[in-house]
Amino acid sequence: MTATEVLAARWDQVMMPTYGTPPVAIARGEGCRVWDSDGREYLDLIGGIAVSALGHAHPALVSAVSRQVATLAHSSNLAMHEPGVRLAERLLALLGGDGRVFFSNDGAEANEAAFKLARRHGRAFDPSGGRLELVAAEGGFHGRTLGALALTGNPTKREPFAPLPGPVTFVPYGDAAAVAAAVTSRTAAVFLEPTLGEGGVVPPPPGYLRAAREACDRTGALLVVDEVQSGVGRTGLWFAHQAEGIRPDVVTLAKGLGGGMPIGACVGLGPAGTLFAKGDHGSTFGGNPVSAAAALAVLDTIERDGLLESVRTVGSRLADALRGIDSPLVRGVRGAGLWLALVLARPVAAEVEAAARDAGLLVNAVQPDAVRLAPPLVLSAAEADRAVEGLRAAVDEVEAATTVAVASAAGPRASGRGPDQDKDVR
Ligand SMILES: *Cc1c(COP(=O)(O)O)cnc(C)c1O
Repeated sequence: MTATEVLAARWDQVMMPTYGTPPVAIARGEGCRVWDSDGREYLDLIGGIAVSALGHAHPALVSAVSRQVATLAHSSNLAMHEPGVRLAERLLALLGGDGRVFFSNDGAEANEAAFKLARRHGRAFDPSGGRLELVAAEGGFHGRTLGALALTGNPTKREPFAPLPGPVTFVPYGDAAAVAAAVTSRTAAVFLEPTLGEGGVVPPPPGYLRAAREACDRTGALLVVDEVQSGVGRTGLWFAHQAEGIRPDVVTLAKGLGGGMPIGACVGLGPAGTLFAKGDHGSTFGGNPVSAAAALAVLDTIERDGLLESVRTVGSRLADALRGIDSPLVRGVRGAGLWLALVLARPVAAEVEAAARDAGLLVNAVQPDAVRLAPPLVLSAAEADRAVEGLRAAVDEVEAATTVAVASAAGPRASGRGPDQDKDVR
């Protein structure tokens, strides 16, 4: 048995099966490369799901975390600390305004805080407690805790755990008229991702967030933009909503913020920053000194090394090359920066993920027909080129295998691209 197989057998004995048995065991990493428990090297094109912003073992992160853990690992909220205050100052400056930050440990907790802010906001409008309604998107994802799950537009994830807090009205993602129609004087807040992440890296049509902003302004609802996956440079901007030039009331962050250390943030801009009063919310570990120091190292490195610019140039090189893969299995590419989905003509993303892994690339079948790439923001042009070669081979291998399977099951006409299938899927 390989070391990976041994670990898988032990995993199955002790871990709740929420994640199934992952197909790989990662032992260490450096830059955009990781090594599994058997010493096999991979190019990491998923970055722990858009988390390892600086790649693995980046010297800036290693030194910031090491220094902080050797100085002060934890203070609790009974004491202030410099890294936390500095990080809040930094985030507010990047978000272009006055506001207040609540630090959490992850994305779901950041959205829980935003959910409670929405309740405070609704009560301020209507002290009898009536203005409670929320609007969120079908296909959206906001986390697994009960409040975040209530906002997640995926009935199969939600329904087993009903009843959930609400009420939440779900609207089709990307439909400006639908969000405008759903927002009423009973709406406390609208929760939207700037691009669906878990939904398959699906950007909305231009103007969508602006339309949501206008709908919220019309009725006084809060616009909560969930930048847990899209934020911190992922799209080549500090925050994805900045592409639309809007100002949300609340921005939630996590994933890439700590570069691998757990930290999330719920940022209330303008009046939304002062909705919570003393005692309204809390977290023992949220924004602890070590995670805050890690996040500061991530933000400093993005700025110092010009990573936003690099994400844009390497990202478009990667997207263009993926679009150029000449295969009937490739329908197109969605996304921006280093946050892309390779969209397939058939639901064989899991097969492509497995073939890519065999070829030494870690990618993620985020939807049955979409393979997600969310590599470290430090991905080089040479690494992007290697990614394309590996994915081309993986796609060809899956196309060859599944064409034979489909052909023998359903006849020779069952495979290949139809004439109406656009290569440039949004
Ligand atoms: C991952 C994700 C979350 C949940 O974050 P966790 O850290 O897993 O709790 C919330 N919103 C979005 C958009 C995400 O991608």
